[in-house]
This record gives sequence, structure tokens and C-alpha cells, in this order.
Amino acid sequence: MTDAPCPQTMDHDILLETIVAITEQRDQHSLELSLFASLREMLQPVCGFFLDLPVNAAARTVLPSRGEDMALPGSVITLAREMSEYDFRQVEAPDLVYMLAVMETAKDGGRRVLVVGMPSWTDVSERLLVGMVRVYQNFMKLMSDSEKDTLTGLHNRRKLESHLVSRLTARLHDRREDDHEGAGKGEYLAVLDLDKFKRINDTYGHLIGDEVLLTFANILRASLRDNDRSFRYGGEEFIVVLKDVSAEQAAMVLERLRGNVESHRFPQVGQVTVSIGYTMIDRQDLPTRIIEEADKALYYAKEHGRNQVRDFRALRGEGAVEDTQHDGSIELF
Ligand code: GH3
Ligand code: MG
Ligand code: MG
Repeated sequence: MTDAPCPQTMDHDILLETIVAITEQRDQHSLELSLFASLREMLQPVCGFFLDLPVNAAARTVLPSRGEDMALPGSVITLAREMSEYDFRQVEAPDLVYMLAVMETAKDGGRRVLVVGMPSWTDVSERLLVGMVRVYQNFMKLMSDSEKDTLTGLHNRRKLESHLVSRLTARLHDRREDDHEGAGKGEYLAVLDLDKFKRINDTYGHLIGDEVLLTFANILRASLRDNDRSFRYGGEEFIVVLKDVSAEQAAMVLERLRGNVESHRFPQVGQVTVSIGYTMIDRQDLPTRIIEEADKALYYAKEHGRNQVRDFRALRGEGAVEDTQHDGSIELF
């Protein structure tokens, strides 16, 4: 510890550089790495971890900055379980003093806690840690807000794009995905479009139209599992990605969703219906092609009476829709 720079005299340039490094990142993992590198440089701690605390499973430590598998005192884990979001706490163990910061809490109460161990903490080193963590958290919030739709709170099109690209890349590289497909399970993408929505706007005004979109988004959330993802793709168009489902389950989930919308009484407007087209996600496919397939099935549903769910593969099998054309060019979106 004697070679650690004294935080009081630390070059301001280092501080600026670390903030620049953090705010240059565009995904959570790089952001975490950058925060770790910054803390290591500024504080030279004996150890640093993220502690993942799932609700019903043992705690896991992630990203040890020095030395593998440091035994963490039980008092640290106990304290980490008691803390709330954005909390900072300190706990003394026999040879180190640990600072804990809750970085993230999940809906189910699980959390990710930053743990940094030093022989002792000064006022300045404490303030540095709190400050850096706040920069990190504010920036994380900014990133997550930029991926959300402001009206419905669902993920937006930008998030859909990065989600699909990362899912497809993972599937191409992860052999384990084969097991699911062997068991008849896969991923499905559905495009949902509200029926005759223009008429709702024209009859009741744009504000009521927005209200319908918001209520629709809530029905969407309530009809899907935590594992599924929903996005607002455009005005009154939404996209749902279902994970680890069989063809029958995908059809059932989407049909249930359609029914839930049909039977809901929207304030002032009454009944609203939705048309849905979907397709199985093939790991070889590009996002554009997947969306195009689901869109063809949606178009078919619109042309054949609306308020219905259509599967692209089934329609293609019947010769009711044409296969999407591959022109060999690589264009993600
Ligand atoms: P179809 O059944 O064929 O889908 O008919 P439609 O009227 O829903 O289709 P169309 O795509 O022609 O109209 C969509 C309308 O959605 C047009 C636009 O005024 C409205 N819209 C798009 N975004 C928003 C929004 O954010 N808020 C509101 N209130 N209306 C929107
Ligand atoms: Mg539309
Ligand atoms: Mg529409």
C-alpha cells in the first residue's frame, strides 16, 4: 500500500481521464471494467469485486481485481443483502475495511454490489469512491434511458437492434443453444400492429390515442414472461421476442396476448384489436430478414380480416407468402 498515490495530491488529470474513460463506454460490461480500472488506479485497493446476490442462490463474486477467489468475510455478504439501492456502507473485517456500494437492484430483490477492500479509508478516498460510483450510475441510467421509449417505457427500436445483434451473435457461438432446439425450443419474433389505429386518433384525438398505446404496452407486459422482451418499434407497432419456447407455446402466448387486447375495455375507446405476424428466429438470419418475415405474416393478417395471429413459416408452407429474398449483401438494419 505504501506505493499508492496519496489521493489528496493525486493529479487532477487522472481524475479527468478516468471520467472520460467511463463516459466513453457504450455497454454495461465495458463500463464496469472501466470503473474498476479507475478505482484501481486512484485507490490502489487490496481487493475489489462485484458481488452478485441472487435472491435464492449463493452469492457470487465477479471481476476480482487482484488475486483469484478471495475469501470474503460473511459480514460483508450479510451487509450487502441488507442494503438498498444507491446505498454506501462500510464494514470492518479483521485485516481490511470494506466499502460497499449497491450498483443495481433487480425487480425480484437480487442485487449487484461493488465491494472494495482497503487497510483503511480516508475521507478523501471514501469521497472518491462515492463520486466515481455516482458517475458510473448516472451514466448507466443515461444509457438505459436512451434505450427506452418515453411514452410506454418499453425498450425502443435502438435497443431492439442491439438486442437482436447480440442474441444472434451469441447463438452463432454458443453450442448449448443446440440443446434447446433439439428439444423443439427456439426463439420467436413477432411484429404487432394495432388495427385501424388512425381511426382512433381521428375520432378521439391524439392524447386518447397515446393513452391506448400506453394501456396496450401494459397488457403486453402483463401477458409475457420475464424472459420475453417487448419493444416499441414505431408509432403503433411493437415487437416481441419470445425465448425458449416451442412452436405451440409461441402460438399460444401470442394468441393469448391478442385475446387479452380484444377483451380489454379501453377508456372512452372501448374495444381495440391487434394483428400479429411472427416467425422463428433462425440463427443464420440477419435481423432485417427476421423482421421482414414477421412483417409479411402481419401483412397477411391485415389483409385477411385483422385481429389475428399469423405464422410466417406456416404461411410459407401453404404458399400463401413468398420467401424473403437473399441478395447476399450484409445490411444489419
Ligand atoms: P391498420 O389496421 O392497417 O394497421 O390501420 P392503421 O390505421 O392502424 O394503420 P396506419 O399505419 O395507416 O396508421 C397508424 C397511425 O398511428 C397513424 C398515426 O397517426 C398513428 N400514430 C403513430 N404514432 C403515434 C403516436 O405516438 N401516438 C398516437 N396517438 N398516434 C400515433
Ligand atoms: Mg402501422
Ligand atoms: Mg395499425
